[in-house]
Amino acid sequence: MYKLIDGKAHSAAIRGEIAQRVNTYKQTYGSEVGLAVVLVGNDSASQVYVRNKIKGCEEVGIKSFAYYLPEESTQEQVEELVEGLVENDAIHGILVQLPLPKHLNAEKILKLIPERKDVDGFCEENIGNLCMNRKCLVACTPNGVMKMLEREGIDLKGKNAVVIGRSNIVGKPMAMLLLNADATVTVCHSKTRNLKEICSTADVLVAAIGRAKFVTADMVKDGAVVIDVGMNRDENGKLCGDVDFENVKDKCSYITPVPGGVGPMTITMLLYNTITAAERSRTVG
Ligand code: NAP
Repeated sequence: MYKLIDGKAHSAAIRGEIAQRVNTYKQTYGSEVGLAVVLVGNDSASQVYVRNKIKGCEEVGIKSFAYYLPEESTQEQVEELVEGLVENDAIHGILVQLPLPKHLNAEKILKLIPERKDVDGFCEENIGNLCMNRKCLVACTPNGVMKMLEREGIDLKGKNAVVIGRSNIVGKPMAMLLLNADATVTVCHSKTRNLKEICSTADVLVAAIGRAKFVTADMVKDGAVVIDVGMNRDENGKLCGDVDFENVKDKCSYITPVPGGVGPMTITMLLYNTITAAERSRTVG
């Protein structure tokens, strides 16, 4: 019998801990914890994400600063805003919602965010520190997966972990986190040969592909822990993951559902990174 990993429940528990840390920060320093969220343009999915991030901030007592710039904003205007946020001591984390409109150079804008305020964990310093297994701000989605595994008491030491997907925001940091937790890690991608055989060796299988129901039962070892990062629409327009949940679940020891698995953890880890950045601003340098 498999156990469903309840991302909503883990998320609520972690948000409770974050709210306590935020409260302690406010009492200790007499000031707020601040997160700036920058949205350029009218992308409707991005608007929903930004709204949820602001709601998350309210829930844990973080002060959010939302900046809505018009679609036609210039590179200089966006850079000027971000540079101002970098200098502003009331802001501990800066998040630029992606994707940015095509005429903007996203890489150049993201590069302006220093390591200490990079609550998305995307900058080179944070990624380098993750590779060196040093304390750093870690990309929210893979860090959320690690928190769930940890809270479920799943020991990763010596386990075979397979990650499908090698994006900079999910697959690669996920692989590094699993490696840092002493798993033996294989990273697969679209050019991988014998994908099914490799996946069948996984004690822990993480799917971060972006293809509905891609992971089928014949790819999953009996008793595996299956983590589904995917967020896709099926043929009926219903939200679904990268894993064929109905056919895979009975082979698993643990499995995350979509929705209600990894998804709720991502914003929670953004809030986690923001309070961590605020606390560090008081103790470092
Ligand atoms: P991405 O940048 O498109 O990367 C997808 C990865 O999957 C790539 O490395 C790609 O390989 C690999 N892939 C594609 N087709 C494959 C195949 N047939 N066989 C093996 N590997 C294949 O996507 P992402 O940003 O990492 O996101 C992945 C999924 O997670 C998406 O569904 C996204 O919506 C979801 N997501 C969810 C959250 C959340 O909060 N729950 C957050 C972020 C992302 P190549 O590198 O060779 O192209």
